[in-house]
Amino acid sequence: MERTLSQADTPREELRRVVVALRTRLQLDMALNRAIPASYLRKQGAVKRVYAPARERVRLEAADRPEQTLEDVRDALGDCRRCPLCKTRANLVFGEGNLHAELVFVGEAPGADEDSQGRPFVGKAGQLLTRIIVAMGLERQDVYICNILKCRPPDNRNPRPEEIAACEPFLIRQLQAIRPKIICALGTFSTHTLLKTDTPIGLLRGRFHSYQGIELMPTYHPAYLLRNPGAKRQVWEDVQKIMKAL
Ligand code: SF4
Repeated sequence: MERTLSQADTPREELRRVVVALRTRLQLDMALNRAIPASYLRKQGAVKRVYAPARERVRLEAADRPEQTLEDVRDALGDCRRCPLCKTRANLVFGEGNLHAELVFVGEAPGADEDSQGRPFVGKAGQLLTRIIVAMGLERQDVYICNILKCRPPDNRNPRPEEIAACEPFLIRQLQAIRPKIICALGTFSTHTLLKTDTPIGLLRGRFHSYQGIELMPTYHPAYLLRNPGAKRQVWEDVQKIMKAL
């Protein structure tokens, strides 16, 4: 049976981790002038309240922060131990590709192959993503590829809210550094995390949404396509729209 956070840690450790994750998240979202609805945070179980004085403080801190490069973001992430996944990962998978990519693919989390190699989308699902990219008339080095989580959840279980809360700020900073024209969100977790919605991906895919002024196309995850080859037609429709927009 999976071990839950509350079973694994004392309440004090759990509270400290949630506070660290929330503070980082607030700082980065404020830097992007992005308000986080308290209702969303409550739903994710991250916090009970967001206090106005804390908002003002991080707004001031964010105003002093200069623009960052991907290298800065990687340096800031360091040997990250902000969530429990640091204990089970073999390698942290930051992301790779063109630092000035017009198109960024955002997946869910590293799998076993990615964890062992420290690179995103290199397993079977990654090979399918590579074929999709080539079919678009691009190469892997033309785009940037990363995930919501930088470390592999044990047994490929679903990401947990506290893990997303701890890790997402670095994805936000990556996207802020790259400033792509289009983001392709691969799968449910990526789409829900970026768009802050729980609408089924089947209803979200196929049209562009806005993410911080960037066009975002949700589509099915390549791993889903391996299990459901019939969905390849819909993914192809989605990437054709991306190609047209590029
Ligand atoms: S998943 Fe993200 S927040 Fe958690 S340890 Fe890895 S890099 Fe840090």
